[in-house]
Amino acid sequence: MRKTYKYRVYPSRDQESRLLETSETCRVLYNSCLVDRKNHYQSTGKGLSRIRQQEILAADKKRVLLLKEIHSQVLQDVLFRVERAYQGFFRRLQERSGKAGYPRFKSEGRYDSITFPQEPGFRIEDGKLKLSKIGQLKIKMHRQIVGTVKTCTVRKDGTHWYACFSAEYEPTPRPIPLKAVGIDVGLKSFATLSDGSEIANPKHLRKAESSLKRVQRSLSRKKKGGKNRKKAKVVVANLHRKVRNQRSDFHHKTARAIVDANGLIVAEDLKIKNMVRNRHLSKSISDAGWGNFLLILASKAEEAGCRFEKVKPHHTSINCSCCGTAVLKTLATRTHRCHVCGLVLDRDHNAAINILKRATAGTAESYAWGESVLSDLSMIQEAPSLAAG
Ligand SMILES: [Zn+2]
Repeated sequence: MRKTYKYRVYPSRDQESRLLETSETCRVLYNSCLVDRKNHYQSTGKGLSRIRQQEILAADKKRVLLLKEIHSQVLQDVLFRVERAYQGFFRRLQERSGKAGYPRFKSEGRYDSITFPQEPGFRIEDGKLKLSKIGQLKIKMHRQIVGTVKTCTVRKDGTHWYACFSAEYEPTPRPIPLKAVGIDVGLKSFATLSDGSEIANPKHLRKAESSLKRVQRSLSRKKKGGKNRKKAKVVVANLHRKVRNQRSDFHHKTARAIVDANGLIVAEDLKIKNMVRNRHLSKSISDAGWGNFLLILASKAEEAGCRFEKVKPHHTSINCSCCGTAVLKTLATRTHRCHVCGLVLDRDHNAAINILKRATAGTAESYAWGESVLSDLSMIQEAPSLAAG
């Protein structure tokens, strides 16, 4: 399995300018690869492969001095990025999902990372990060990497620099908790669980978000091309990074707690894009970053050997989680009141139970809060030992 570790690095002024020059050269290479592919297609009707582009690059390296100053694998990674952009484009064409979006040119400042796809292009040694043709960077490794490091990507974010390592590792099996949980992501709180507990949106995140709005307003008032605008841009970028980091931190911690406590995790299969189209809700939905949270949750669940399921979200907030009767509500109705069985429950709590039940539909008849799920899970747990015996 793969896992990414992100650390702050502190390049010296020289190293920073080398990093910036490198990413600028990579950006130009990226764009010229796009042009080549386009021209080749227009003149021959055929695509230009990455292998062929690699040959062109090798020839260019003999002539262009700038390219010589960059580690060859970093340049090769650019070709891989171009290839991935095209693959994504063709996939979207095939799926016919909305606009396919032809791969775009990267404008200045839009290419903010370089990747060393393998050692020894990069190496962590004596508490320093050695980057070929860049130098030895000071790095703050606040936690240990588990597994074998495969790639290193160095990225600028605002005024800070980060190194992201992708490591491959064998997950250690752990006992799977005999508990199941349904998660309803909501607007009132970040999420409500089927046991009735609520996960609130953290306040510090809200605060950072409101100051982000303020600095963005101030940026828009600055004269274009002016010195002050440049300064304001840095402030905005730094604050963006802060908000993003805080949000991601919150997502990781929340997901960790849920995965540690449960063996089966069920969430709604939300089409976030469709939801964002609803103007009244869109702001809060994008902000909460549910899509990202669910991705993190899924990956942590997989890592821990939990079952993670996504179920269709239809009617989860309308149906009664006790007897199944449809109880119509508007968005403003906060409490579920069933006139058939008399169940009174917070709206989101009711939805979370429905979500959990939907994943265990086949056994819903004898459903006594997760009991059937638990026996199901204990069977999963016993299976490996049976096989071993
Ligand atoms: Zn009912």
